[in-house]
Amino acid sequence: MALRKLVAGNWKMNGDRAALSELDSIDAAAEAHPGVDVAICPPFTLIVPATGRAPGLAIGAQDCHTAISGAHTGCISAEMLRDAGARYVIVGHSERRTDQHESDAEVRAKAEAAIAAGLVAILCVGETEAERDAGRALDVVRGQLQGSIPPAGTGETLVVAYEPVWAIGTGRTPSVADVAEMHAAIRATLGGLLDGEGAAVRILYGGSVKPSNAAELMAVPDVDGALVGGASLKAADFEPIIAAA
Ligand code: PEP
Repeated sequence: MALRKLVAGNWKMNGDRAALSELDSIDAAAEAHPGVDVAICPPFTLIVPATGRAPGLAIGAQDCHTAISGAHTGCISAEMLRDAGARYVIVGHSERRTDQHESDAEVRAKAEAAIAAGLVAILCVGETEAERDAGRALDVVRGQLQGSIPPAGTGETLVVAYEPVWAIGTGRTPSVADVAEMHAAIRATLGGLLDGEGAAVRILYGGSVKPSNAAELMAVPDVDGALVGGASLKAADFEPIIAAA
């Protein structure tokens, strides 16, 4: 089953209010490609102005807390994101799994909080270079899925992003055959975890997606879009990726 493609930009800790001007062209590109869902996940500080500036774009966040509210200084809940106008939230990005030591269980709790708040959770998984070199990539990703996929996830509320850690921000990507093998394994694992809904959950590829490789990656079976870091910061780079989807 061909699923509607999603191209989501992750601005990470980049962008100020002046950077929001990039959204004008991205919004226009999204409008020009109505068959593709387009989202931008800026830093928390830009969510409200981004929704005001680009009403046609889906705006997302890059993290949320597991709780609705409470004594968690410096944290943001999924309800707050929803209230600010966000529609998506990335959970379990490898940079947070590394820097904030997020476990699979915590990632699952965040995804559950996001879904309960009415957001779509973009849940990231992916192996390190050492794990791939050791022939463990498939097992590692299956394990991450088993530990972090919320059992109530559906095609409407959950997206999985396969992001090999060694491909993020490096300019390197897995071979098309390796992407195909991994996405097929993720699809099969989702089928086991979510029954029929597993076929409806979109699986994005992420890691050094750029205009020159987007079409090739999007054509791989079970690649239902892309999660894009560096190339989402400039509309001139992001637009061709939307077009490729
Ligand atoms: C990311 O961090 O989600 C990502 C895919 O980054 P990049 O596209 O820059 O590799």
